[in-house]
Amino acid sequence: TRLEGLHRRAHGSTLVDPPRSRPPGTHSRPRRVAMLSVHTSPLHQPGTGDAGGMNVYVVELAKCLAAIGIEVEIFTRATSAALPPHVELAPGVLVRHVAAGPYEGLAKENLPAHLCAFAHGVTQAWVDHRPGHYDLVHSHYWLSGHVGRLAAGRWGVPLVHAMHTMAKVKNASLAEGETPEPAVRVTGETQLVRAADRLIANTAKEADELLRHYGADADRVAVVHPGVDLGRFRPDARGVQAGRSAARSRLGLRQDALIPLFVGRIQPLKAPDVLLRAVARLLEERPGLRERLVVPVVGGPSGSGLTEPEGLQKLAACLGVSDVVLFRPPVGQDQLADWYRAASVLVTPSYSESFGLVAVEAQACGTPVIAAEVGGLPVAVRDGVSGVLVPGHDPADYARALRAFADDPARSARMSEAAVRHARSFGWDTAAAATADVYAAALDERRIRLVS
Ligand code: UDP
Repeated sequence: TRLEGLHRRAHGSTLVDPPRSRPPGTHSRPRRVAMLSVHTSPLHQPGTGDAGGMNVYVVELAKCLAAIGIEVEIFTRATSAALPPHVELAPGVLVRHVAAGPYEGLAKENLPAHLCAFAHGVTQAWVDHRPGHYDLVHSHYWLSGHVGRLAAGRWGVPLVHAMHTMAKVKNASLAEGETPEPAVRVTGETQLVRAADRLIANTAKEADELLRHYGADADRVAVVHPGVDLGRFRPDARGVQAGRSAARSRLGLRQDALIPLFVGRIQPLKAPDVLLRAVARLLEERPGLRERLVVPVVGGPSGSGLTEPEGLQKLAACLGVSDVVLFRPPVGQDQLADWYRAASVLVTPSYSESFGLVAVEAQACGTPVIAAEVGGLPVAVRDGVSGVLVPGHDPADYARALRAFADDPARSARMSEAAVRHARSFGWDTAAAATADVYAAALDERRIRLVS
């Protein structure tokens, strides 16, 4: 079936079927890619505001592409006058700052008005170089896609686009009171699906959504699972249990604590409120747990809504759980690894999630996950093996899942070991190799079209 085909491509070594014939003299690997991330910079701290998984994705993918000989220049909007025109992020990876719109205080919703200025800045970069400087454009999120379409058209190179999230999918599963994505985004995404030479989806499910909701052509959609930095997110060398104990000491947490951890942007879509409600219910049933229950919420505000940190703090107070919840601002990824190691379980009750990097990062550190059965989370978490998938968002179901972690340490330990094994299949080097295959397919198709 269509979906099975997409699965096969995601796991096979060749992501897309190799071109049947390649004209003489073609070389399918780009030397240099223009990567576009208009609304958020790869240099920003993820876990707050508009910076999240996509930032991590762009940074890690670019570094691994550079390591296999594909240079990457990432264009992003300058958010301060003090930023230099370009910064070397890693060998072979350059971040270019483009002035477009006011430096500060520009909401993502108002960005479309400044896309022309951004596109101008991107196409100007070409002026400084010889023709053919970029072999391909890879855009991330629909706003970048529009600039990518223009730049790729001007330069005569293929456009590879990754949606990361899609308005139609998001609107189908909004949290209560959340504002739907506007029609202009739906129209923009539909245009992009038609314009892109290749679309990269995080999972087979996302690929299927592109086909069903946006009428994408299956031959132009490739599935590439995102990765995880397995060097950074790993259990302690002494093993998962010893590592948990050491991380708890470093973070000043008691050794016998039950620690359900939330990591991510504080926004309705991520449903940290569902975790707090589940914790309140767990404590009603098991008041004895209170003195050893710690619920860290690591991340910063994003957008607006009831679940901004202050809103969440109020909710915790209303539910009578303020004493067990620890609110922590976003932290760098090394410190985040310690939070994962220290936790008993990561909880991701999201309403929608195109993949859910935090779920794989936690597992890579040896921490199982309780995840909502939405979006990419069923790929990120192996239900019953490396964690538990919960259908829906009823706090009672999450409380039940938490109770199982409190009551059955042997099962938790088994899941921890399985989590480490499961996460090992998600390396960024694998994702970069698969992405390079998508680039090759897009380039070869163009060349075949040009010579025929
Ligand atoms: N993150 C971080 N520090 C924090 C919280 C989150 O670096 O304090 C990172 C985390 O490591 C992950 C990303 O932010 O890579 C969040 O990605 P995810 O796919 O889970 O969610 P998204 O933000 O894309 O919705």
